[in-house]
Amino acid sequence: MTVNITLSANPVAEAEREKLLQSPIFGTIFTDHMITATWTRDGGWQQPELGPRKPFQMNPENAAFHYGQQLFEGMKAYRGADGSIRLFRPAENAARMNRSARRMAMPEVPPELFLDSVRTLVSVERGWIPAEGSLYLRPFMFADESFLGVRPANRCTFCVIASPAADYFRAGAKGLTVWVENETSRAAPGGTGAAKCGGNYAGSLMAQSRASSEGCDQVLFLSACGNRQIEELGGMNIFFVRKDGRVQTPPLGTILPGITRASVIELLKADGITVEEVPYTFDALQADVEAGEISEVFVCGTAAIIASVSRLKHSDGELEIGQPGETARRLRTTLQGIYTGDIAGPDGWSVIVE
Ligand code: PMP
Repeated sequence: MTVNITLSANPVAEAEREKLLQSPIFGTIFTDHMITATWTRDGGWQQPELGPRKPFQMNPENAAFHYGQQLFEGMKAYRGADGSIRLFRPAENAARMNRSARRMAMPEVPPELFLDSVRTLVSVERGWIPAEGSLYLRPFMFADESFLGVRPANRCTFCVIASPAADYFRAGAKGLTVWVENETSRAAPGGTGAAKCGGNYAGSLMAQSRASSEGCDQVLFLSACGNRQIEELGGMNIFFVRKDGRVQTPPLGTILPGITRASVIELLKADGITVEEVPYTFDALQADVEAGEISEVFVCGTAAIIASVSRLKHSDGELEIGQPGETARRLRTTLQGIYTGDIAGPDGWSVIVE
C-alpha cells in the first residue's frame, strides 16, 4: 500500500540530532515524522500518510479518552555492520496487532498497511538510528470519534511514531531485582491480558510504584485466580532455567504472547534444549530455588531483549537467584546478532528495509 509522503520543512538539524543520539533515554526523544491512517466503519481504511510529527487535535468527548478503546505494538529497527537496516519479525507484530484489535472490537489493520507504514517511516528516519542502539517503533491505534457512549467506535486512527533507543535497563548487566506482586493482578481468564492494550498497563502502574518504592526494577505478576501461578512482568515474559538444563516459561492465555518469548523458545529448541510451557507457582519456584534446582531466571522483550533476574523480592522476604547466567548471555548475543544481521537467524526473522 503506497504511503503519501510530506516531509517536514523543519526537521531537527543534523548536528542537534547527532547530539541527541549520543545516549538517548528510552521513550524521551522522537523523530521528525509520523504515519497516520484513518478508518471509518462506512469507508474502511484511507491511504496512510507520512507527515511531520505533530499533536493530534481531538475533542474532549473523543472516545479514546473515556473508554480506553486503544492498542499498541512495539518493535525495533537496527542498522547492521553491512549498513542495511533490519526489522525483526515485523509480520508477527502486524498479526499480534490484529489479534489485539479483534479483542478490543477495533478494525484489523491490513498487514500491508501496517508493514508499508513501518518500512516507510524507518526509511525516512534512517538518520535517527543510533550507532549503538536501535530505532524503537510504536505503531498504535485509538478510537477517534467524538461520541460519549459505550460501544465500538465508528472511526479509528492508526499511527506509527519512532524513538531512538539505547539499552533499556542500565541495571541489565548486573541482573534485575523484581518485585513479586501479591495484591493486584494484571489479567484474568476472559480478560484482555493477551492483547496489547493500554488498560493492561494502566492497571499495572500501582504495582510498578510499589516495586519502585521497594527498590525493584520491575514487577512480576501472579495469576488473578489465587493460585499464585507466575504470569509475566509488566512489560516482559519470564523464563526459568533448571539445573538439569530444562527451561520453562508460563503458558499463553492471560499473558502477552511476546515475539521475543516465541523466538527464545525456538532458538532454545533448535539447540536441542527442552522448553516446557507449563504453569509454575511462585511457591514452587521458591522451593526449587531453595533446593538449588534453578540455575537462572531471565526476562525477555523487545525493549530489554534479554535481562537476567538476580533477586526476587516479595512481601515476606527475598529470593536470591544469583549472577546473570550463561543461557541468558548466549540468547542475548544470538538475538542481537540476528537483529543486526551479524548472525543468520531462521528464515524470515530478519527483514531488510533498505
Ligand atoms: N509482556 C508484556 C506485558 C509486554 O508489554 C511485552 C512487550 N511488548 C512483552 C511481554 C514482550 O513482548 P515482545 O517480546 O513482543 O516485545
